[in-house]
Amino acid sequence: MHLKIAHLYPDLLDLYSDRGNVIILQKRAEWRGLRATVDEITVGHEPDLSEYDILVMGGGMDREQGIVAGDLQKRCENLQHAVATGTVILAICGGYQLLGNYFETSGGQRIPGIGLLDIETVGAKVRMVGNVVAEMEIDGVKTNIIGYENHSGKTYLGKGVQPMMKVIKGYGNSGEDKFEGVRQGTVFGTYLHGPLLAKNPTLADHMITLALKRRDLSVKLEGLNDDLEARTQQKLYKRLVESR
Ligand code: GLN
Repeated sequence: MHLKIAHLYPDLLDLYSDRGNVIILQKRAEWRGLRATVDEITVGHEPDLSEYDILVMGGGMDREQGIVAGDLQKRCENLQHAVATGTVILAICGGYQLLGNYFETSGGQRIPGIGLLDIETVGAKVRMVGNVVAEMEIDGVKTNIIGYENHSGKTYLGKGVQPMMKVIKGYGNSGEDKFEGVRQGTVFGTYLHGPLLAKNPTLADHMITLALKRRDLSVKLEGLNDDLEARTQQKLYKRLVESR
């Protein structure tokens, strides 16, 4: 079995080690004996994205997002087709915003998104920065998720769009409704950097499992030693939630 991962715009969208998410997906697959490869795709490259099982897009500053937005418009159908075939997408912060309808910067510039997710983002003058503790339901199990956010954009979800998590500590999508990110089928958009999947191995494995299902492989991934990750989570949870 060959898991094909693509890292979209690694040269333009890679804040706070978002690249780590790609490494984690690859390593956790390899540690289970799967072959996993990563291709880097950026402006001007034109592969068929449905060839990939997982696409990862990081976050970026407003300027870089403007560059990516232009290129992304040309890939709109390509991405839609990939999603229709079950490709998993993880988009962080700036990448997440661009999967939506638009991102209006705090300076009033409107950067168009591709409308894959029915969300709208408007930049606020005060940035939302800090560690986040949230809760996500993964396969019916409530799972704590930790991460780090740093964004000006406040994201509002359209009707029928489901948030990915509930915020326990932090701002999340807008700081107004206690929701974080969006999950729509196999598409995950979130503000959490960190890198998210290094801090939350259960989520990483969930994405690998979805990617394998796309290949008609319903496997239960064998467990790995995630003690270090669990201790890190507990520490942050204690510091941010229990000691409030
Ligand atoms: N430039 C966007 C914002 O400030 C995204 C930032 C990011 O990706 N961390 O909201």
